[in-house]
Amino acid sequence: MYTWDEDTTKWYGSGTYRYGSKGTDKRRAAADRAAASGPRTYKRNGGPNEKIVDPRKQIKAKSSNPLIIAVDVTGSMASWPFEIFDRLPLLYNTLSQYREDLEVCFAAIGDANYDHWPLQVTPFAGGYDLEQLLGSLYGEGGGGDAPESYGLFAHWVNTHIEIPDTHEPPFLIVFGDAPMHRNVPGTQITHYLGDETGSDIDALQAWQQVCKTWNTWFLRRPTGKPGDKVDKQWGHAISEQKIFHIQDEQRAVDYAMALVARAWGHFDNFQDNMRARQDEKKVIEVSQPIAIRCPRCGGPTPINAAGMFNCGYCGTVLRL
Ligand SMILES: [Zn+2]
Repeated sequence: MYTWDEDTTKWYGSGTYRYGSKGTDKRRAAADRAAASGPRTYKRNGGPNEKIVDPRKQIKAKSSNPLIIAVDVTGSMASWPFEIFDRLPLLYNTLSQYREDLEVCFAAIGDANYDHWPLQVTPFAGGYDLEQLLGSLYGEGGGGDAPESYGLFAHWVNTHIEIPDTHEPPFLIVFGDAPMHRNVPGTQITHYLGDETGSDIDALQAWQQVCKTWNTWFLRRPTGKPGDKVDKQWGHAISEQKIFHIQDEQRAVDYAMALVARAWGHFDNFQDNMRARQDEKKVIEVSQPIAIRCPRCGGPTPINAAGMFNCGYCGTVLRL
């Protein structure tokens, strides 16, 4: 398991890497608290910590760099909260050196027709607080049919989150492998989110609304075929360009970090970070598909684009 300290000498790759100066205090505070609580362990409970993951509460980001990471936890994806927990210090320590006020909200998505906890969400936080928050999510592993309740989550994002003004759309990254129930019944919204609207919501429209605020990506497991029914539906929800097919599931968190690092102008640094953990072949396998897409709209970018790059599709000026 990764640790909160900044010691990278035990990483397996051939490259060496040192964290930058930005965010040092936050990383040190997290490392101190981690040291005081002993070795990192992931408790496999029989359910989530309901007080922490309750989707009825409103949550608010203080930072202008909020990040939402949502995971489908149905079926074989039940272990994903653990997989992310394992790499949590790496995720936070890496991204916080690029923007030190980073705050992360984690969500676990299931199927409201079948599961006990079809939507679990944590408040926004940074540093060591994330350890307990992420550890509170429970990979139920249920889900009865193929579609899952991604729409309920999208509606929650639209109605239960408040963020400060951001100078660019913040990232919302979904790890999943399934299509969504088109209709979000009003009864589910009342039951799970505590909102008494009574009316049903269209899942695709809810996602289209999410995309007005959030730079939304669907990072899809290697199980799916590009262009299939799942891609088509998600394409309607968030646009086809924002669907990314992961090639290596073990590197799922790296794909997310690569995407964010590229949008934030620190792609080279991220590649160095990865070189200290993986061999060069793997670094290329993960980073090349990210490098040919605009991290804002998903449109194609020339492989050698560098410096200030003006995306011809969304018009965003990016520092690559
Ligand atoms: Zn673009």
